[in-house]
Amino acid sequence: MQFDIITIFPKAFGYLEQSILGRALKSGKIKVKIHDLRKWTTDKHRTVDDRPYGGGPGMVMKVEPLHKAIKAIKKSKKVKVVLFSAKGEKFTQTKARQLQKYHQIILIAGRYEGVDERILKWVDVELSIGDYVLTGGELPAMVVIDAVGRLQSGVLGKRESALEESHRRPGWLEYPHYTRPEVFKGRRVPVALLSGDHRKIKIWRQHHARQRI
Ligand code: SAM
Repeated sequence: MQFDIITIFPKAFGYLEQSILGRALKSGKIKVKIHDLRKWTTDKHRTVDDRPYGGGPGMVMKVEPLHKAIKAIKKSKKVKVVLFSAKGEKFTQTKARQLQKYHQIILIAGRYEGVDERILKWVDVELSIGDYVLTGGELPAMVVIDAVGRLQSGVLGKRESALEESHRRPGWLEYPHYTRPEVFKGRRVPVALLSGDHRKIKIWRQHHARQRI
């Protein structure tokens, strides 16, 4: 699976080289290509934004460089083009699972007041990572790559398995975890978890997992 990020801040993605994702990148289980949107500008200042029609504060990302970038990067038919927007559909675990089926996902990180609306003709989905406004789509792009990338086969080892996790069904929240020491400042690990009895442990976990209503 390949992620292609279109951004004006190509140096913002160091996080992806860390930990499990870094391992997955090195082994080629997932690929991430970062594209500087300015590559598709034609003027000497490499302009990617302009003033909004109708006036008002802030700048708007120009449609031409974005359009050229999408056309240049799209490799096959099994591609999903995602535009990040605070107004988009909410990104959830269910959406992460749906995105997992694509060979290539193009992620457009907006900046300024957002993008010229006309680019939506070449976008498959607008995604928001939550009801708040960020300065750009770079963090949302990393959020999506993390959530989708870790679902790819072979990315998580047995130790980090995704089978028994929160949101495996909508609203299902995982049971609590404990590790050593058995007692910490008077607070004990639940007895069932120390019993070594797999049936008891399973029942305890079922009982302590929650369903968000
Ligand atoms: N003027 C826009 C609005 O009111 O909806 C906010 C633009 S924001 C400052 C700049 C860019 O950050 C957006 O185009 C989008 O790509 C990204 N962004 C901001 N908040 C986001 C969120 N909650 N989810 C996904 N992307 C977001």
